[in-house]
Amino acid sequence: MKFWLVCLSGVVALASGLPACAAALHKYVVRVDSTLEYLSVSACFDGRAPQKLVAEDTASLYIDEIRLRDAGQGSLEISGWEATLSDLPDNACVDYDVKLRPVTTGAQQGGPQTRRIGRDLLTAIGDWFWRPVAMPAETDIEVRFELPDGVSVSAPWTAVGNSARVFRVGSTPRKWQGVVAFGGFSPVEITVPGARLQLVMIDSPRPALRDMFLRWIERAALAVTTIYGVFPVPELQVIVAPTSRGSKPVPWAYVSRGGGSAVHLFVRPHHNESEFMRDWSVVHEMSHLFLPYLQWGDAWLAEGLPTYFQNVVMARGGLIGPEEAWRRMYAGFESAKNVGSKYTVFEAASRIGKRGLYRRVYWGGAAYMLAADLRLRELSNGAAEFATALLEIRQCCLNGNYRWSAVDLVARLDASSGTSVFSDLVEEQLKARPFPDYETMYERLGVRILGGHPIFVDGPAARYRNAIMVPR
Ligand SMILES: [Zn+2]
Repeated sequence: MKFWLVCLSGVVALASGLPACAAALHKYVVRVDSTLEYLSVSACFDGRAPQKLVAEDTASLYIDEIRLRDAGQGSLEISGWEATLSDLPDNACVDYDVKLRPVTTGAQQGGPQTRRIGRDLLTAIGDWFWRPVAMPAETDIEVRFELPDGVSVSAPWTAVGNSARVFRVGSTPRKWQGVVAFGGFSPVEITVPGARLQLVMIDSPRPALRDMFLRWIERAALAVTTIYGVFPVPELQVIVAPTSRGSKPVPWAYVSRGGGSAVHLFVRPHHNESEFMRDWSVVHEMSHLFLPYLQWGDAWLAEGLPTYFQNVVMARGGLIGPEEAWRRMYAGFESAKNVGSKYTVFEAASRIGKRGLYRRVYWGGAAYMLAADLRLRELSNGAAEFATALLEIRQCCLNGNYRWSAVDLVARLDASSGTSVFSDLVEEQLKARPFPDYETMYERLGVRILGGHPIFVDGPAARYRNAIMVPR
């Protein structure tokens, strides 16, 4: 009898009844000191040690020391943000210490950053997390935090069991950034249909403010579920941190996808509850999660969808009235139609860094979404809509670990809707020189803007006006 030294990936093994590959689980222990800036990490590898450990390019600024533990003849060489490991025995451990130097001034722009806010600390994961450059599909990393008394941790990773300190990192690409926060907060769990959100509020807001932020995030997440009945992703890290810069309730916010989905919001806490409830930022960021991570240059789709949904979601969730939603959307289109008009929306998307062009991309993309929503409803006599196609995207395509191209996603949306609406509209609206024709859509929907205010009149598609915006 002959034994074959093969193993199968988990799903195939399950289907065939043959043995699955032994899944390797590397184990990291991260000790955090009382300043929260000094991290002592022990990384022990399950089986064969990786040949390289890598972090982000910023990490080389922070590494204090990196050394092998009981590695026999093995060696370790560090260059920038890469550590090369040679001749390590099986199950070897690498220990390293990191001294972070968080930003303390100015206002945050861009994505994850290591920043001190009050006594709490946000850390960009890639600043301190040195990990194998590539891992087989069955391999994962477990990270266990050892924290000073009174300190909690928030990570985008999946918590193990009920532990608040042990996580599985999962398989999103290393380049996808995320934030691990340490501080005196108590994470709050919010459950909405289809998802569990973990909210942390940085810099110990007073109890009344904490309650207000909790109501705000819960209300926004519930509003997002009005699109197709459930929240788009099953788990979400939400970080609310104060900032003194800017003039609006939420001067800066972004979505991150590394290790799991996250929405990070920088807020001006002196604004009142109704100002927060009527602000579009949080529903915009959450609406990004209806689509998988898209490639750079495809911002008309990545930003067009949340820019359209920010108003739809707020109206359906009762955060603003339908009139206000149509008004805001119209104002957005108006503000964008003459910006960068030598570019089509499609061309502008690949030049979005150029001054002012982002408006054309965001609102041109939003006009495309409204057009798609309306055309799907009209073609199906109201039986289908944008959300019907998106729900299939939730099932097939949100968990992938690669960045989609708009071309592929539009093809998927066409297939999900059983139409060519999405690709047709790319040609008709986004690749044409004039800004998408929102005036005609408003006319068909029976929304007339007089003196900046919407008036509802009759129109051939007026019945869909309510279907799109009325509170659910
Ligand atoms: Zn956005």
